[in-house]
Amino acid sequence: MKQKDLLYKGKAKSVFNTSAKGKLIVEFRDDITAFDGGKKDVLKNKGKYNAEVSAFFFDYLERNGVKTHFFTMLDPHRMVVRKLEMIPLEVIVRNIAAGSIVRNYPLKEGTPFAHPLIVIDYKDDARHDPMLNDEIILALKLVTPTELKKIKEMALKVNRLLSMLLAAQGITLVDFKIEFGRQGRTIYLGDEISMDSMRLWDKKTGGSLDKDVYRFEKGDVMAIYHKVAERITKPMNKRR
Ligand code: 5GP
Repeated sequence: MKQKDLLYKGKAKSVFNTSAKGKLIVEFRDDITAFDGGKKDVLKNKGKYNAEVSAFFFDYLERNGVKTHFFTMLDPHRMVVRKLEMIPLEVIVRNIAAGSIVRNYPLKEGTPFAHPLIVIDYKDDARHDPMLNDEIILALKLVTPTELKKIKEMALKVNRLLSMLLAAQGITLVDFKIEFGRQGRTIYLGDEISMDSMRLWDKKTGGSLDKDVYRFEKGDVMAIYHKVAERITKPMNKRR
């Protein structure tokens, strides 16, 4: 399979056409951005750590009945994925109050929710990803009611599976953002699930193990990404 022309360049990933029908290559670059692109850097190996964790999660989710776009890794930065028609929704699942929900509503950081909350934003940089509700989503005709129901079910299943896996590594899954796409009538989990798109807290220390380290300059981002990638993908009993 050959990599062909660039199809799309996002803030941290590039997507390429390939010579194989229905397959794309996603390249995880070393670019890191925060605050709507207001803060930017290039951090060596960042793409590799995020790709490694994303691939690990996609594989784990597939084995547990979640359809994802992931096929295989080509090299540490490049992933072969199923070509999807992407749905411009950022589906966020929150277990504990943190980040924008604490800034926007009278909630104390660190408060667990009685049930996981699903918050859906419109993926539109120019509009700063405004929050949607079901009625706006359907009015925009972004998905059918059946697809919306399926997306929410899948998001909650991903939350259950990832929370369990991470808890076993001493990590609390505070919240995360995922994106979906369709091929025909089937909905697949697309994009990535990485330290850039999750909020992870160390169960022992409460310290951040994700992009908040970069956003709020809480420490050496790459040292933390490296450690957390090892901790997730090579649990203690499997480490050499
Ligand atoms: P918040 O709304 O608190 O900023 O984000 C909630 C969760 O979703 C966090 O884990 C955050 O990293 C993720 N998230 C929200 N918006 C984006 C986005 O545009 N890109 C990425 N990569 N993650 C996002």
